Amino acid sequence: MIARTPELLARKRDGGELDAGELSRLVTGYLAGDVSEGQMGAFLMAGVLRGFTAGEARALTQVLLDSGETLDLSPLDGPTVDKHSTGGVADGTTLVVAPLLAAAGAKLVKLSGRGLGHTGGTLDKLESIPGFRTRLDPGEMLRIAADAGCVVAAQTARLVPADKALYALRDVTATVPSPALIASSVMSKKLAAGAGTIVLDVKAGDGAFLPDVAAARELAELCVEIGTDAGRRCVALISAMDGAARAGGRQRPGGRRGRRDAVGLAAGTARRGGAGARDPRARAGPRRGWAAPGPVRRRRGAAGPLGGRLGAGAAASDGRRAGRRPGGVRRPRDVLPAAPVVRVIPAAVSGTVAAVPARAVGELAADLGAGRTVATDDVDPAVGLELRVEVGDRISAGDPLAVVHARDEAAAGHVTQRLRALVRLGDADPVPVLLDRVGHPPR
Ligand code: URA
Repeated sequence: MIARTPELLARKRDGGELDAGELSRLVTGYLAGDVSEGQMGAFLMAGVLRGFTAGEARALTQVLLDSGETLDLSPLDGPTVDKHSTGGVADGTTLVVAPLLAAAGAKLVKLSGRGLGHTGGTLDKLESIPGFRTRLDPGEMLRIAADAGCVVAAQTARLVPADKALYALRDVTATVPSPALIASSVMSKKLAAGAGTIVLDVKAGDGAFLPDVAAARELAELCVEIGTDAGRRCVALISAMDGAARAGGRQRPGGRRGRRDAVGLAAGTARRGGAGARDPRARAGPRRGWAAPGPVRRRRGAAGPLGGRLGAGAAASDGRRAGRRPGGVRRPRDVLPAAPVVRVIPAAVSGTVAAVPARAVGELAADLGAGRTVATDDVDPAVGLELRVEVGDRISAGDPLAVVHARDEAAAGHVTQRLRALVRLGDADPVPVLLDRVGHPPR
């Protein structure tokens, strides 16, 4: 006999497992309006508190994937690659890695999301470039990828609509932080986008959805298992998104600095040592390179690590072509909107930077208007914070801690006070940015 919705919820509440058919009935019933928002919220909360099995995560991924269309990337030449970060403060990985991969001969077709709460979103960063369009249909995505080598677009109503609906509900019911729910959400989008190689950047730390490294590892393992079972090459890097990471762990809340580096990269004006050698996104490049078969690996031998391509400006033309699709990219200051108030925040005392708590800094940027409280909020693309210090830096009183870009003096003053209190001085014990890897490079 088929269990009724309240019986399914009771089983999950009591720590039981639902099978693929039952999960499908819940999700498709929710999309059709037969399962109420209250019932779906109760299911999600029961799952977050009781946990899901790996089998449930796999089944849920398939249910989400089956809710819409998938992209066929077979018309594209060269290896198809996709990457996904699980979200954090000012995470600008895609903006740098996409043109790098294109420069190395890969084709990247990526669906990206918007920022919520303390986290930043790739689409918000791209849309801060005037004229940049992220709503593309599948035909446009393929045409741009064929021409420029990379395309980043918004999830559409046709691709994984069930994830869009569930994610909106998870956001307002405090049910995002579950390894199985994040894995099914991320991997349904990755499988729908069609790439042969998938590289995941799973964030751990206080600025990430999953602060705990063990939970981040569980998420990474689930994602790699789901991707590998679906016949994709899949690898996950676990990276630090907290206040203790150094050397490229430099957080860039509000995304302002990250966007500027990315626009600079696209325009061929990225500074060495800016979006260059010290940047974990560039350092992660070689791993993304080895994760891809064919031309990417061969070119790597000739050009050195992908990070080296930044200094040489090799990614610039590809980034510029990708940027030119929707509106064109010149120098960062020519295209990015400027805030009316720009203030340097000087250090009040001397010492060594011991921590810069990422979540709190992200929340400060959101206070300035660079983030959303609910999904329908607008983001102010002109405001944000540029951190000028990272863990381990020796600073003297008066040295710049950060630059605040604000709408008015009151907002700048509030952030100045709060940021000074957040940057902790003392004995530094920096952790590396890359913490672990799950999955193996293809032989
Ligand atoms: N990113 C996603 O795409 N889904 C989640 O659930 C969390 C982060």
